[in-house]
Amino acid sequence: MYAQLLLKSGRDRSILNRHPWVFSGAIKTHPKASNGEIVAVCNQQGELLGHGFYSPESQISCRIFDFNKSQVPSFDAAYWQAKVQNAFQLRQQIINPQTTTCYRLLHAEGDFLPGVIADVYGETVVMQVLIKGIEHIYADIEQSILALGFKHIYLKQKDNPSFQEGVSLLKGWRTEPAAQPIAVLENGIQFLVDVENGQKTGFFIDQRDNRALTQQHSAGKKVLNAFSYTGGFSLYALAGGAREVHSVDISKDAVARAEALATLNFPEAKHQGIAADCFDYIRQTEEKYDLIVLDPPAFAKSAKAVNNAARGYKELNMVAMKKIAPNGLLFTYSCSQHITADLFRKIVFGAAVDAGREVRILRLLSQADDHPINIYHPEGEYLKGLLLHII
Ligand code: SAH
Repeated sequence: MYAQLLLKSGRDRSILNRHPWVFSGAIKTHPKASNGEIVAVCNQQGELLGHGFYSPESQISCRIFDFNKSQVPSFDAAYWQAKVQNAFQLRQQIINPQTTTCYRLLHAEGDFLPGVIADVYGETVVMQVLIKGIEHIYADIEQSILALGFKHIYLKQKDNPSFQEGVSLLKGWRTEPAAQPIAVLENGIQFLVDVENGQKTGFFIDQRDNRALTQQHSAGKKVLNAFSYTGGFSLYALAGGAREVHSVDISKDAVARAEALATLNFPEAKHQGIAADCFDYIRQTEEKYDLIVLDPPAFAKSAKAVNNAARGYKELNMVAMKKIAPNGLLFTYSCSQHITADLFRKIVFGAAVDAGREVRILRLLSQADDHPINIYHPEGEYLKGLLLHII
């Protein structure tokens, strides 16, 4: 028996709809449990709705990972292993290992395992643990991953402890280290990923499908990849026959890596890396680009930051729309969880009005399918994008 968390009357609707988050305001009686413990979530009458990890310090006080109401499973090593195996099975259906060796294996709520991310780079898995509940079962998760045949595990905790809700696991190699950088393939293109020093878990694998779409549209085009990081979209544009590609990022190191990867994959191609602030670059450039990719970092890291973020996205998109060549294609993204798809579209609409050009949506874009969105947890849909045609 697990300690009971009782919801206020009428506050069980979203849980009955399998939304995995219990907000602090919905709780009538807190469980007698400490941070990270598994608790039984019950309605006011004490009827079981599911089990979750308790996070007393957080606005999201409990994250439910199991909605079984009758037969309560025992949450032992085999239980966690089944979750990891199910996640792996889905990836085996989605990923072609001949051409793609980096992908997301565990996508938190999207894999019914809140608070944990696992990204695969060849034989290495990079983990992020965001809640104490996962810390308690972490050894089981690691064992389950190693049982799938992976050789190396690197735990990459965020530097800002406020994101971690008291997780005390330290970042670093949990196995023999893998040599850095790790060579991986994504749709047949070679990338070198530095999991220790790179951003996020080392690479932005959520853009894989969108990069492939860029490749399809790049033949003969002059391309600007703004916020390029290590040149993901740039390499696909070159693979698709772009005439010339410019990769712009504020990180000198990322730009240097993009240049090296362009030379490695396409030694003859015309590629230039530019270390600059993209807001300044797009405002000042006199180049006429036929295809622009805008993939900025999350401007809204919290709900409070949404207004400022919206201004940033609007300005960026407006200038890109003004500058792009006639008959241009703009791939524009937001990876802020707090900017919904609907809001992002409104922001881009505002940018189009101010740019004064004819703008059409050709495609609505989202994250790659190894980042599944639990239908009961719309917050998991964090990457939004639009492919726009601009006359
Ligand atoms: N499109 C990339 C991922 C981009 S992540 C890919 O497919 O891999 C966002 C990038 O924006 C990071 O590399 C970060 O260094 C860069 N960045 C953040 N602020 C910036 C700014 N003001 N100007 C240019 N680049 C910026």
